[in-house]
Amino acid sequence: MTTAFYEHLQAELAGIREAGLYKTERLIASPQGATVRLADGRELINLCANNYLGLSSHPDVVEAAHEALRTHGYGLSSVRFICGTQDLHKQLEARISGFLGTEDTILYAAAFDANGGLFEPLLQEQDAVISDELNHASIIDGIRLCKAKRFRYKHNDMADLERCLQEARAAAARFTMVFTDGVFSMDGTIAQLDKIRALCDQYGALLGVDECHASGFMGKRGRGTHEERGVFGKIDIITGTLGKALGGASGGFTSGRKEVIELLRQRSRPYLFSNTVAPSIVGASIKVLDLLEASTALRDKLEVNTRYFRAAIQEAGFEIKPGTHPIVPIMVYDAALAQKLSARLLELGVYAVGFFFPVVPKGQARIRTQMSAGLDRHHLEKAVAAFKQAGTELGILK
Ligand SMILES: *Cc1c(COP(=O)(O)O)cnc(C)c1O
Repeated sequence: MTTAFYEHLQAELAGIREAGLYKTERLIASPQGATVRLADGRELINLCANNYLGLSSHPDVVEAAHEALRTHGYGLSSVRFICGTQDLHKQLEARISGFLGTEDTILYAAAFDANGGLFEPLLQEQDAVISDELNHASIIDGIRLCKAKRFRYKHNDMADLERCLQEARAAAARFTMVFTDGVFSMDGTIAQLDKIRALCDQYGALLGVDECHASGFMGKRGRGTHEERGVFGKIDIITGTLGKALGGASGGFTSGRKEVIELLRQRSRPYLFSNTVAPSIVGASIKVLDLLEASTALRDKLEVNTRYFRAAIQEAGFEIKPGTHPIVPIMVYDAALAQKLSARLLELGVYAVGFFFPVVPKGQARIRTQMSAGLDRHHLEKAVAAFKQAGTELGILK
């Protein structure tokens, strides 16, 4: 019986390989940064980390982590409500609320948990949740765990969102919550939060936003998509991660009105039944907010890098998804060609990964590059030159 089970898994794995969907992990032997050194010694310009602000190995952030280790220990060996809440955790929660313009914040081990534990405590059978069809997997899973009626609108389509709001109203939903990614990670699309907010107001709906690809750098002060779209202070619920721009270690949060956060502390299962965030991460995250509140230099540099790279890669002859986000998808369309391009770039010293079905729609394969404030102009020039060479060799560029 058990033999059959393991044979079944072997067949599944073989199927994944045959479909060309098998994911391998490259071994990195250096800290995360503008460049990384692989375990085989190769040094690569890194265009595929979520290290938007270059803080993953920032000396002040690393030092703050060391300091918290010294003053608050390695771990708490507890969930928050038993004996896992230190002064540092409360400080970070207050600082995140201040940064995002909300009343209160609750920390989670990951943003995946923040989204996974959000909907079930807040919404019941008589309620409705409306979700963009391209929302992150953790939002989809979180919604699955709650009993509210579910509606899905076409990606970024305001008319279709309104159809859902009407359907929720027709279904006599008690409370309706619209939930969207602030920024969608495959295309770098920035949600139209101003329009979504207006529709939510018109229909009396709550608005929640996942800010994982936005917190720290979107908007003039880097507060997020709500700042970028002119609705700062007007979002009911914000979820986000400490594992991307805000230092890149791990940890997530939900932020919003104090009664929302209070109820999540009572009922949210990933919070109640999972260990507290390690003090070193909490201390370092406070330092990240110190840096970002003191100066916008990093998000400004990221913006300059993004503008430069978007222009230069198009100048070189590549087609990109238009926009302004540091996610810059370079369109190849053909999955095999995207893999070849990524492999050749690696040989030329540039780390950039190909994305193809099922991560993106069939025939929409691309190299997804991501800009970072850690990158300097010479890195970007070298990267564009490598793209140009590889693109020419592979016949992508004429
Ligand atoms: C990365 C990401 C998450 C998960 O964040 P973790 O903190 O790594 O769990 C959730 N939502 C979105 C939109 C993301 O991009």
